[in-house]
Amino acid sequence: MMPDTSSPNTRGPRRLLSRIRDLMAVHEDAQKRLDRLTDIIAAETGSDVCSIYLVQPSGALELSATHGLNPGAVHAVRLRAGEGLVGVVARKARPFAVEDAPAHPNFAYKPETGEEPYKSFVGVPILRGGRLVGVLTAQTASMWLTTEEEIETLQTVAMLLAEIVASGELVRAEGFSGLEVRLSKPERLQGLALSSGVVRGVAVKQEPHVVSARLVADDANAEEARLNEAVARLRRSVDQLLVSGRVPMGTPSREVLETYRMFAHDRGWLSRLGEAIRAGLTAEAAVERVRNEHRARLMKTRDTHFQERLHDLEDLANRLLRHLARPEDNRAEVLPENTVLIARSVGPAELLEYDRTRLVGVAVEEGSLTGHAAIVAKALGIPMAGRFDGMLDRVEKGDQVILDGEFGLLHVRPSEEVSRAYDERIQVLAERQRAFAHLRDAPVQTADGQPLTLSMNAGLLVEMNRLEDTGAAGVGLFRTEFQFMVADTLPRLSAQIELYRAVHEAAGDKPVVFRTLDLGGDKMTPFTPSMREPNPALGWRALRMGLDRPALIRYQLRALLRASGGRELNVLFPMISVADELARVREVLETELRLARRHGHETPDKIRVGLMVETPAVAFAPDACLELADFVSVGANDLMQYFFAADRQNSRVSDRYDAISAPALGLLKAVQKSCADHGKPVTVCGELAGRPLEACVLAGLGYRSLSMAAGSISLVRQALAGCDLSRLTPWLEAEIHKGARSGAMSLRERLLCDGKTAGIARERIDQN
Ligand code: PEP
Ligand code: MG
Repeated sequence: MMPDTSSPNTRGPRRLLSRIRDLMAVHEDAQKRLDRLTDIIAAETGSDVCSIYLVQPSGALELSATHGLNPGAVHAVRLRAGEGLVGVVARKARPFAVEDAPAHPNFAYKPETGEEPYKSFVGVPILRGGRLVGVLTAQTASMWLTTEEEIETLQTVAMLLAEIVASGELVRAEGFSGLEVRLSKPERLQGLALSSGVVRGVAVKQEPHVVSARLVADDANAEEARLNEAVARLRRSVDQLLVSGRVPMGTPSREVLETYRMFAHDRGWLSRLGEAIRAGLTAEAAVERVRNEHRARLMKTRDTHFQERLHDLEDLANRLLRHLARPEDNRAEVLPENTVLIARSVGPAELLEYDRTRLVGVAVEEGSLTGHAAIVAKALGIPMAGRFDGMLDRVEKGDQVILDGEFGLLHVRPSEEVSRAYDERIQVLAERQRAFAHLRDAPVQTADGQPLTLSMNAGLLVEMNRLEDTGAAGVGLFRTEFQFMVADTLPRLSAQIELYRAVHEAAGDKPVVFRTLDLGGDKMTPFTPSMREPNPALGWRALRMGLDRPALIRYQLRALLRASGGRELNVLFPMISVADELARVREVLETELRLARRHGHETPDKIRVGLMVETPAVAFAPDACLELADFVSVGANDLMQYFFAADRQNSRVSDRYDAISAPALGLLKAVQKSCADHGKPVTVCGELAGRPLEACVLAGLGYRSLSMAAGSISLVRQALAGCDLSRLTPWLEAEIHKGARSGAMSLRERLLCDGKTAGIARERIDQN
């Protein structure tokens, strides 16, 4: 390339970029604009040929504009995936240059292009979001080995082209309609269902993006200064997070932050950014360009460790973009209607920040069924699915998506056929909801007439209206920590009283069980004392924190007593491991009650103290605790995590073990029996209770009260109505008795196969 005259460096890539920017400002026919782009690139780089190939839906690369090749070949020549030197660039998603192209084994001669006389070849991928949108090539008549700087210039131009292509500016103009520039292949991603429901919507990525109008910089020095300042802020923020203790040692987020810190000081990364700025890009565009290259590499590698590191780098780039944001970019972005959030992971508090009138679904690359983001999504009735490997690289902002929270599927850019099928399904589900609405006031009972009580779990005031439409008997678990998790500062006594009163009022005559603060573990707030714990799930959380720092629990109990004046107060204590903890908190409650009386406040008509069974110590030896409790709630999420020693937050292990297995069912049966022996009413309130098959199994073990996310109540009601406990109970007893010696099939599989004998109506379990 450029053998005879000046090199692109002397002409200056910045001049090239500003010519391209000027061209984009002129409104004219899109094809003409693309043609002129190739003219400018050829002229400014001193090449004889410059061509743009764009990816078609079939995966083929179509010659879409050229300077120097036969104009008749435009839109006529297509290269199959991997074909020719252009194919090599596409396959590797990396620049590729040769001195003597016709002599290269991959050279594919296309007579209609008339490219025979050209010797040197350089091609760079046009990448957007890590995906290949096209290939930009330059050729010269004589042999010439392209320099690093020249490749760099073409890459910068390709970055601009990608933005122009993706912005739709090229396709909007007339006369260009036949050109499919966006990668539009439908994709079906299989993940894990986290919150039920099926929705159709528009993908919105949880990441800042670069405004394409601001890609080319006027003043490289000023951009470099902005970048340096943003990098300094980024480093400070990462360092601060690490030393603040808000991210406990040994947690995955801490590891990620450590990696961030490493990258934030990584010279390679920073010098790549600097180079891109010196080539004429704005700081934002430079970050985007370097991120694109990393994404492209990420998509090619199979090494999972390397993939994770690149993901971290991606997150870091997002953070850097936030630090670079100008005030006008910081305006809260209005979500499009029917937003489906596409994120690597999302926290419960973060989820609550999104505009709920527009957010209809959430898809994450990570996520677990009993994680709090999933619990919040269920509470809000927002379908959610997770564990979509590599999703972020395969979904573009603005893509049409269908999120299936029943089967954990994400359809990206769905075909007509898939869309039609889902339209039907969405209609069937809506009809079923209407049918459920009729049943909502009917008593809940099994096929053999055993009555059950179904309550709902809640944590936010907005959920309380679900009591009515689900026909729930009451609120079996009100997670009071949600109020704390969404606040910037510790909620004051008055705010707590106000919330609890409002919850009582919304519940009317229906009972509410308020669980005291269950903070710590994954439920962090910005103001909880800083902790550095190697195993936060086994650490200083919930009541352990409450007993050590009694002000927190005292204030909460004071608020609950005041808010429940003249009503019944059901107060449930989480994470009890020994009876003494329950005894001590009962004393705090008594003290607060005396204080309330002394101050002349109206006190509750009745106070019932609840024990949460969620540690194996209490589950295996519950007697001492049961004596101190008026009622019991089995927190199956935590109980199962501790029973199987499998962190509910860690997607690698959280669903590795099945509660429908002889050992776990044996434990759950024993807990039910102890409660019955002590005459203490018991409810199961973990996520198990809200899954149709599991709910039937719990009924089979003798549980008659279940509390679950509002959205699960109708499904569980239907499943129970088909379940014959006179057969299921003895079937389960026999299986528990057999223990682990029960053959190759898992207990769950056998239960489903043996449905009839076991008294399970399968069609009511998997209804979708
Ligand atoms: C549980 O552990 O099962 C439970 C209901 O509590 P949480 O999910 O809030 O920890
Ligand atoms: Mg719990």
